[in-house]
Amino acid sequence: MNISFGKVFIICVATLAGVSCTVAPVHPPQPSAVPIERQEKITKIDQTPLPSKPSPLAEITEIDKPLIQYKPVLTPPPIVALLPTSLLSLRHTSAVPGGVAWITLPKQSATPPKILYQKRQVVVLRHGKKWVALVGVPLNAKVGSHSVIDQETRKRYSFKVKYKKYKTQHVRIKNKRKVNPNRKDLQRIRHEQKQIQAALSSYWQATSNSPLPLMQPVKGRFSSPFGLRRYFNGQRRSPHKGLDIAVPLGTPVVAAAPGKVVRTGHYFFTGKTVFIDHGQSVVTLYGHLNTIVVSPEQIVKTGQIIGTVGKTGRASGPHLHWGVSLNNTMIDPMLVKQ
Ligand SMILES: [Zn+2]
Repeated sequence: MNISFGKVFIICVATLAGVSCTVAPVHPPQPSAVPIERQEKITKIDQTPLPSKPSPLAEITEIDKPLIQYKPVLTPPPIVALLPTSLLSLRHTSAVPGGVAWITLPKQSATPPKILYQKRQVVVLRHGKKWVALVGVPLNAKVGSHSVIDQETRKRYSFKVKYKKYKTQHVRIKNKRKVNPNRKDLQRIRHEQKQIQAALSSYWQATSNSPLPLMQPVKGRFSSPFGLRRYFNGQRRSPHKGLDIAVPLGTPVVAAAPGKVVRTGHYFFTGKTVFIDHGQSVVTLYGHLNTIVVSPEQIVKTGQIIGTVGKTGRASGPHLHWGVSLNNTMIDPMLVKQ
């Protein structure tokens, strides 16, 4: 039941408990916000035809105005490392086991081509308008024709590996286990060899600075050259894959080039060792250290102290065993040092 009394509305609902009523205000019709005269005016304006489309010329004039500033899309320049003049001597050295093969590539591309040797990417540096591949040749490489391949074009470039006679060396070691490891030692050696291989095959990273040549990490007498065919206590063992520099115990050892420490450890043969990745597959190894003052992932500069000379591992006296690896291949450090 709805009963209206002027400005209020009374709503009554009959229920079992009786009759309940609520009072609701009545909203009278609101006066129009716009006078009628004005409403007519608006109606008139609404009926006028839409303005004609502006001429195409006007639109062009609008677009010509620099309303939005567009930034040009910049493509990063290719990472190019120039061949330092000190490496030009490599052009005249023939490729030998444990040496470096110089391959001039006829390709004149802006970006360095990816060159593979035995499925491993090699150092490629800019020399004039051409590219030069520097390939580390394994110490056990067969004499004769070898080749690298351009990963993109699949074009092959061949080079000849010539014979090189390495001298023989006899070394006396007091710790006989270092010459004839026991079963437990052999297990350790196998495990360590995997770690060392992983460090030497560090991720191939492009560099805008040539990773070569290298600074000699310690000044001193070269006691054992690279490639010696070695006999320990009269027993033939694997050839020498580094350069030994004999200096007093505790002599500081420095990084041969800028890079990142990829691994440090204490190994059966090379003792306390540091591995540094210099990019483009160039990795250096510093063995028989007495102390190590760097840690993995650390970025080092050329000449930065990384440890001190010792005689840890299989060593007859204090010296630095300096190893240089190109495309995961140990080469003669003398070829690429400054
Ligand atoms: Zn050595």
